[in-house]
Amino acid sequence: MPPQAPVRRRVASTVATVASVNQVTPRMTRIRLCGDSLAGLAAVPGQTIKIYVPDLVSGCPASRDYTVRDYRGSGSSGPSLDIDFVLHGDGPAANWARHAQPGEPLEFVGPSGRYRPDPHADWHVFAGDETALPAIQAYLEMLPAHACVAVYVEIADATEEQPMPGAATPVVRWLHRDGREPGTSTLLDDAVRAVQWPPGHGHIWLAGHTPTVRRIRAHLLNERGIDRRALYVKGFWDRQHPVGNPTGGAPRGVKTVGGAR
Ligand SMILES: Cc1cc2nc3c(=O)[nH]c(=O)nc-3n(C[C@H](O)[C@H](O)[C@H](O)COP(=O)(O)OP(=O)(O)OC[C@H]3O[C@@H](n4cnc5c(N)ncnc54)[C@H](O)[C@@H]3O)c2cc1C
Repeated sequence: MPPQAPVRRRVASTVATVASVNQVTPRMTRIRLCGDSLAGLAAVPGQTIKIYVPDLVSGCPASRDYTVRDYRGSGSSGPSLDIDFVLHGDGPAANWARHAQPGEPLEFVGPSGRYRPDPHADWHVFAGDETALPAIQAYLEMLPAHACVAVYVEIADATEEQPMPGAATPVVRWLHRDGREPGTSTLLDDAVRAVQWPPGHGHIWLAGHTPTVRRIRAHLLNERGIDRRALYVKGFWDRQHPVGNPTGGAPRGVKTVGGAR
């Protein structure tokens, strides 16, 4: 029998409608999607969806990964799903979010992702830049009040600080770039390098600018001797090589840079 060509499965997508657009901070917009298509999605905040937005340069839809910030499968106003977009500059997804209006459609695939904070960990560290903040906030909401948590978030400046949700009372350190471009500072590296790990079995979650989180991962594994099972690391974007696929085909550049589970 001749070898068979691999079968390409079409992944079912969901089309929802923009219900509202709210400015969370000067550079973060929350878009709430609604529609009956969201019912029964079984989404969990912190999971990832791949959205499809128009790319004016290529003329084709661009696919980009975003975090489910919140999901309500039912309720008086019907099912809804929230996404927090960083308005970082020029990119199809950021541009779409900047101009989105209630009533517009948004197509996405997913959600996917099984990460949950380790319920058996004695302590948790979450570190990332503003693109990681929606996921960090979602994971904080999963932790009990007695959880020992530290959070490090690199943001543009003090106007980007947000309240941390959940029952736990994390130690939060905001790292302000104060004029430096995203992806050019060592603020997050320096902060994580300075952490004195508490005793016991901890868990570290790290996401954001891909080269930065790779550097930190190497430091944690090679210089600090952190057990890779205690580490979840994911690159979310890169300055030179945008994460996602402008042609809307197979995703490229989304890198789980190690320790993921
Ligand atoms: C699993 C996962 C979850 C994510 N969740 C979120 C989320 O909830 N919210 C969110 O805002 N982002 C999130 N991101 C990051 C987001 O997918 C990227 O920032 C994406 O590149 C934005 O697409 P774009 O079309 O706006 O820009 P692109 O077309 O991808 O890039 C255009 C230009 O902008 C630069 N760029 C891209 N992102 C940034 C940035 N954040 N800051 C500065 N410059 C940038 C690129 O290097 C490129 O030069 C997530 C990424 C992953 C992998």
